[in-house]
Amino acid sequence: MAIWKIKEWDWGCDHDKCTGCNICAEVCPTGVWEMERINGKLKAVGTNYKECIDCWSCLSLCPVEAILAIYE
Ligand code: SF4
Ligand code: SF4
Repeated sequence: MAIWKIKEWDWGCDHDKCTGCNICAEVCPTGVWEMERINGKLKAVGTNYKECIDCWSCLSLCPVEAILAIYE
């Protein structure tokens, strides 16, 4: 699980589930997600996570439920 700190919660992307489909990057209005090749496979990485405006599109539209909001 890759974790990025966002305000009072963390965004997580389960790279075991992520297929690199790019949907999260396409729907994110602020360009938070980018695809990076990790161990030869494309995975979503929160490269610009501080720009998140909490629209929850990425979490709700990921087809494999790889994106998680983690409250501590
Ligand atoms: S939408 Fe889900 S499966 Fe697709 S790249 Fe983003 S995290 Fe990975
Ligand atoms: S919640 Fe919205 S703004 Fe934040 S990373 Fe997901 S799609 Fe982007």
